[in-house]
Amino acid sequence: TIQFRDIRKSFGDTDVLKGVGLDIADGEFLSLVGPSGCGKSTLLRILAGLESQTSGSVTIGGTPVDGLHAADRDLAMVFQSYALYPHLSVAENIAVPLTMRRLSSAQRLPLVGRVLPGSRTTRAAIGTTVREAAEMLDIAHLLDRKPGQLSGGQRQRVALGRALVRDPSAFLLDEPLSNLDAKMRVHMRAEIAQLNRRLGATFVYVTHDQAEAMTMSDRIAVMMEGELLQVGTPDALYDHPQDLRVAQFIGSPA
Ligand code: ATP
Ligand code: MG
Repeated sequence: TIQFRDIRKSFGDTDVLKGVGLDIADGEFLSLVGPSGCGKSTLLRILAGLESQTSGSVTIGGTPVDGLHAADRDLAMVFQSYALYPHLSVAENIAVPLTMRRLSSAQRLPLVGRVLPGSRTTRAAIGTTVREAAEMLDIAHLLDRKPGQLSGGQRQRVALGRALVRDPSAFLLDEPLSNLDAKMRVHMRAEIAQLNRRLGATFVYVTHDQAEAMTMSDRIAVMMEGELLQVGTPDALYDHPQDLRVAQFIGSPA
């Protein structure tokens, strides 16, 4: 279980998160929705350890994670921009977390043009893991290409593959489909929802697309100006919005 307790975050004198409390169950698919600038990415980045909160606590499985380096949290984050290395092959891009993991934090270097370290067995094991992830995502035939030779949807799969090989207990996805055309978005929605069921991992999914959230989620958290307005199943939010702003966002007739 991931637990946010009274999370507050200020940048200078701007309060971006104003006391967010939220529990996310193991294996749950939770979408975080709300208008641009309401604090979705900030909350996700705090969970990922890429940003620290001004006050409040985050626990994962009952353990406070404050002070734990991003790489040492059992999470994998997928960004809107995909953050792929253009000069590395698809296989090397997917392998990045595996080749970095075996270095201590102090030794951790960007994997720029570096040959995969380690013994032949390690390299073989990494190769197998990468291939399995690529097969799951239908990009096994693209392993030798460079990101520049891929479509947007294929790049998105590479970014997902990189998260998959970490085998995390939770995936954090920040608007992962926003760079895709409408048809590919609908297709990838289904694939991501299927990954959640197949892996049994927790998915925290940030989007401002209400249709995406309604079709994919076990529960939706509606955020507005740094606060959660309502958290519930898609049906509950649609049938019983607690607030006009929730109703407007979800598109219920209320
Ligand atoms: P979007 O849907 O556009 O991605 P969001 O809900 O993800 O929006 P955040 O990125 O969390 O929003 O930003 C919330 C607010 O915090 C915004 O007003 C933003 O300008 C501000 N903010 C975010 N990061 C910083 C920063 N590093 N320094 C100052 N202000 C920031
Ligand atoms: Mg954002």
